[in-house]
Amino acid sequence: MAELSLKHIDKIYDNNVQAVFDFNLDVKDGELIVLVGPSGCGKSTTLRMVAGLEDISRGQLLLDGKDITQTPAKDRDMAMVFQNYALYGHMTIYENMAFSLTLRKENPNVIHKKVLAAAEILGLTSQLNKKPSQLSGGQRQRVAMGRSIVRNPKVFLFDEPLSNLDAKLRGATRREILLLHKRLQATMLYVTHDQTEALTLADRIVCMSMGHVQQVGTPLELYDQPANLFVAGFIGLPPMNTWKARVRDGFLEGAGFTCPLNEKERGTLSSYAGKEIILGVRPEDIQLGSDVTVLVSNNENLGMNTLVHGHIGDASSADRKIAAKLKGWQDYKVGDHVSVCFARKHFFDAETTSAIRKEG
Ligand code: ADP
Repeated sequence: MAELSLKHIDKIYDNNVQAVFDFNLDVKDGELIVLVGPSGCGKSTTLRMVAGLEDISRGQLLLDGKDITQTPAKDRDMAMVFQNYALYGHMTIYENMAFSLTLRKENPNVIHKKVLAAAEILGLTSQLNKKPSQLSGGQRQRVAMGRSIVRNPKVFLFDEPLSNLDAKLRGATRREILLLHKRLQATMLYVTHDQTEALTLADRIVCMSMGHVQQVGTPLELYDQPANLFVAGFIGLPPMNTWKARVRDGFLEGAGFTCPLNEKERGTLSSYAGKEIILGVRPEDIQLGSDVTVLVSNNENLGMNTLVHGHIGDASSADRKIAAKLKGWQDYKVGDHVSVCFARKHFFDAETTSAIRKEG
């Protein structure tokens, strides 16, 4: 059992920089939570407070209901995997994995069993006599994970564990972490700035910006129902298109376009008649149609889809930029006009930037 509760947690560094504001989260036993957000948003600070590597300025941290806010890192029963692996170069892989247990003076037979079991899980059995320098980056990262596994901690903490790996290894190691999570059924907190990692790994994502939690939810919830413009822009690749638009007589009027609203959309926007809002449309929700004309500036064939960049209407101003992921292999040329429609629209309040949800 390992349930973690973060209650009203603030972090103010000694130089008076507040890095985290009122962070609240209940992590269920066995859940894999991914903290995601741009560099500097407070993810690592939050993780390090959970690990006990940073003091918690205000608030409370509970592990299985027990207050561990003041508990030293070494007594928290958590294991952290860092991006730089932090392996001992002069020790073999076996010794690296056994190290924490040796320090604890565990029975050598127990240590041997645990190291072999972890090596087996991670496919490192044939590497145990090597030194870290003889391993690839991906293998080293697995050793770092192995070192955590042998300790059988209550909570695993990952701080950008894949950021030193190349793109191909990142994908493979990500899948390994997912399998590891399934196999160990352990509670895990994972920090990354990469929205793809968040979407593919998380049971639930915590999306942060400037020290504040913006939304907590499943990957699908964040993708399909972003709480605000920040989450909408951060989750999804290429990012969601956003334009200012005015609600008028069942239509949305924006720079260079007028598109119809269906009954449900009109319901959602019923209190915004005549007002300006932000319209958001994901590139993959744009299809060939007859509502909006796009002037093509770039055509990228991705195989099953074509990513078309351009501008709405004929003017190429910044507020008319559009990216559309159209089905199939298209061969548009610069200057072509393509007619599209928006299969799914997201609406945001222009002042608060919060998502506009259907009332009542
Ligand atoms: P992230 O992990 O999302 O990149 P961090 O948690 O590392 O963000 O940093 C959050 C904010 O706290 C940043 O503004 C950063 O400059 C600041 N910060 C991080 N560590 C310290 C520190 N030791 N002292 C003062 N400010 C810090």
